[in-house]
Amino acid sequence: MGLADRLLAVPPSEALRQQADRLRQELVGETVTYVVNRNLNFTNHCLQHCSFCAFRRDPGAAGAYWHGFDTLQERAAAAARLGATELCVQGGLNPDARLDGSTLRYYQGLLQALQAAAPGLHLHAFSPQELLFIAEQDAVPLQAVIDGLRDAGLGSIPGTAAEVLDESVRARLCPEKLSARQWCAVVLQVHRSGLRSTATLMAGHIESSRQRAAHLLTLVALQQVAWQHHGGGFSEFVLLPFIGAQAPAPLRQRVGRDQPDLEEMLALTAQARLLLDRWIVNHQPSWVKLTLAGATEALRWGCNDLGGTLMEESITSAAGALGGTAQSVEALRSAAGSLQRPVRQRTTLYGAGLACV
Ligand code: SF4
Repeated sequence: MGLADRLLAVPPSEALRQQADRLRQELVGETVTYVVNRNLNFTNHCLQHCSFCAFRRDPGAAGAYWHGFDTLQERAAAAARLGATELCVQGGLNPDARLDGSTLRYYQGLLQALQAAAPGLHLHAFSPQELLFIAEQDAVPLQAVIDGLRDAGLGSIPGTAAEVLDESVRARLCPEKLSARQWCAVVLQVHRSGLRSTATLMAGHIESSRQRAAHLLTLVALQQVAWQHHGGGFSEFVLLPFIGAQAPAPLRQRVGRDQPDLEEMLALTAQARLLLDRWIVNHQPSWVKLTLAGATEALRWGCNDLGGTLMEESITSAAGALGGTAQSVEALRSAAGSLQRPVRQRTTLYGAGLACV
């Protein structure tokens, strides 16, 4: 068993918490950050059937939706009026989403429509799975997709669809999804193209501590490649605890828990901080999945960021998460303040310069 495996097998303890908290202080100081952003999930039509997903629908099924550009523009403009600096845009894999017969042109059109409605907002959009989907639908090289989206205003990408970067876990969890190797290849290409991404781990279901360790070490390796060759790379790590409440029955029964085990997730928060070390210094808990109280506690276990206001979370809420669909700036600031830590608004890529609200 390697060092990383041993670290990931360590049970929750005050000593573990303090070690992660000390490293957080050394690497990023005391300040807690947050971003004012809005989620835009433009469609839940999806041709895949991931075993944990309560968000996807077949077209025409109850609850299925595919918003037009005008609706999305209204929401983007409303977000801008509320002070948002970022739109986080993701959707299901909808093969009907085409403009002039091209999937890439649809996604470009979406970014351009959002830019027109909310100029200046950072467009944090489309997971590695969505990028690969566009390339496959149009039968074009992935680089053409990355370049085409960047030209249309893409600012960075969410590192979702990583789930657990282990082929045996993915075979049971999401066999239709891009493989772990493909996820890494897409992220390498995104980083090489000069775009940043976040990094995620969906944990607390069928994965082992060894698979968690391997996932985190893979993130370190990808970051090392980025830094050796061009800089940039991952901007933050986000732990995504599995929510089972509304997940399809087979996986829900297998996991045997509707909501995350907070103690286990706090321990993993600390372990991830220690393992990712100086390679990924910004760590964000998910208040949607842990509730704001749980996310605030995670700030004591190695995290330094509270994520975004979201304004309209729908993917995890569909799975039965209890954290809600939005947070006010005041709620995020008061959560950080309850720990007597300074707080500041940040940009998507952790830039400073935004006035504190
Ligand atoms: S997780 Fe994403 S790709 Fe998988 S079924 Fe749900 S919407 Fe589709």
